[in-house]
Amino acid sequence: MNWITKIIKAGEKIKTAIHKRASKEDIANSDWTSCCKGPILKKDLEKNLWVCPDCNKHHRIKPNQRFDILFGKNNYEIFRTPIPKDDPLEWSDSKSYKDRLKSARKKTGLNCGMMVVAGSINNIKVTAVASDFDFLGASMAAAEGEAFLYGIQYAIENNTPFLCISAGGGMRMMESLISLSQMTRTTLAINDLKAKNLPYVVCITDPTAGGITASYAMLGDIHIAEPGALIAFAGARVIQGTVKEELPEGFQKSEYVEKTGFIDLIVERKKLSEKIGTLLSILLKKNSAISTDENEITQDTQSLSKVAS
Ligand SMILES: [Zn+2]
Repeated sequence: MNWITKIIKAGEKIKTAIHKRASKEDIANSDWTSCCKGPILKKDLEKNLWVCPDCNKHHRIKPNQRFDILFGKNNYEIFRTPIPKDDPLEWSDSKSYKDRLKSARKKTGLNCGMMVVAGSINNIKVTAVASDFDFLGASMAAAEGEAFLYGIQYAIENNTPFLCISAGGGMRMMESLISLSQMTRTTLAINDLKAKNLPYVVCITDPTAGGITASYAMLGDIHIAEPGALIAFAGARVIQGTVKEELPEGFQKSEYVEKTGFIDLIVERKKLSEKIGTLLSILLKKNSAISTDENEITQDTQSLSKVAS
């Protein structure tokens, strides 16, 4: 190799290094992420509970970050939930389902996409579940169904309200009907909870779609959503293709579905814990102002509308 070739080769290497596209992994491991004004330091975003100070975008967060905000840092008990047999249908597409599960577990540190914990808000013990979007899009399959049922069972046995922080694209296709059957299983479990008069509160986060919207995320006594969350069954492109009409602005976002009565209220992340605490106090009739028998219903209604306003 003569000196001219060496210089050309070195130049090419530098060019490749500059133009090399950052992989998803590079972005995930870097100190930076991006929002409306370009790059933003993750630690600055974290100080603001992962909400952009400029555009108020509520960035997606992991279940442990969510529980740290709701219950206080590490101030909750994490449960190990049953894990059914992996890959019951021996599914394979461009990659085997077993390999996909392996990478999702490595990426999130979770055994399945749903985390179950018990913590306290306003001195009220709460059982809660939250999903991790980094675990195969927080889709629901047998393991997540088991986690949800474990949480409900714990809530019933310990007489606590149940809080579901919903997220996910729907039922996981790699487990086909086994995934779809989780819609029925979670619905029946919620009925058991309600039969014990225990509150079921749903906090919908971005994105909540498909079979998740069509089952457990829409069966709450109260439905709260974070600002700007996508809440849908079918995707907007599919709907537009079917109805052949231009869809309204903000279609399927929290603000739009609140107007159409799909959800009860939109709450900013920094106020979620306080608002959920107030709602649970009302639902459990722990608020002394609503405990008199004769005006219980009227007062409940008034208190709920005050919270919603
Ligand atoms: Zn922003």
